[in-house]
Amino acid sequence: MSFTDEEVERYARHLVLREVGGPGQQALKAARVLVVGAGGLGAPAALYLAAAGVGTLGLVDADTVALSNLQRQVLYAAADIGRPKVEAATDRLGALNANVAVIPHPVMLDAANAGDLVAGYDLVLDGTDDFASRFAVNAACVAAHRPLVSGAIGRWTGQVGVFAGRPCYRCLVPQVPPEAETCAVVGVVGALAGVVGSMMALEAVKLIAGAGAPLTGRLWVYDGLAGDSRTVRVGADPACPVCGEQDAR
Ligand SMILES: [Zn+2]
Repeated sequence: MSFTDEEVERYARHLVLREVGGPGQQALKAARVLVVGAGGLGAPAALYLAAAGVGTLGLVDADTVALSNLQRQVLYAAADIGRPKVEAATDRLGALNANVAVIPHPVMLDAANAGDLVAGYDLVLDGTDDFASRFAVNAACVAAHRPLVSGAIGRWTGQVGVFAGRPCYRCLVPQVPPEAETCAVVGVVGALAGVVGSMMALEAVKLIAGAGAPLTGRLWVYDGLAGDSRTVRVGADPACPVCGEQDAR
């Protein structure tokens, strides 16, 4: 694939980076990335991935834009309220970068459709806020050998991890926590979604371009109130129902 003059100018700041350069930008153009959840995390992640020149960007979300989304879901404008999120997002991302093919999937990802959705992409970002979807995305990624960039936020704290084979997300979260909190109940700072969603896009760019050390098997945990972060290693769970059996084969 060669770049047009427009692409060379558009991606100039990537092309001069030693860790991206021409080969990395070509890899971004060839990449197919699925963003599950076009909400607080998916919005900034999708914006940065489209701006970065990811060639094919799939978006999975069954919701419509609501007024209370606009506090953090920076993909959407007030005029989008009531529109399907993936439809509004496709327009916005197309306006940002016409070189990107945006594929809307106006469905809720579940165990029944996750395999088909994931199979069409090289890399998956999960920014959903319910554990049923998270477990389904993880299982589909492990089965199809697709790397998964997982992000989560609540109140003032967030985390990002990358999973490729073992350990998987389910090793980190074996079961749905008994008192799982959602942002709708406990709240979330809007800018935190930007921090964590952007970090997810950054990890995706690193994975695609082969740059640096991705957070594979590690979890980056950010405490926005304290202004502090740490990175911890995720252990593989021998009894993991998703990746444990696979290892024993
Ligand atoms: Zn596992």
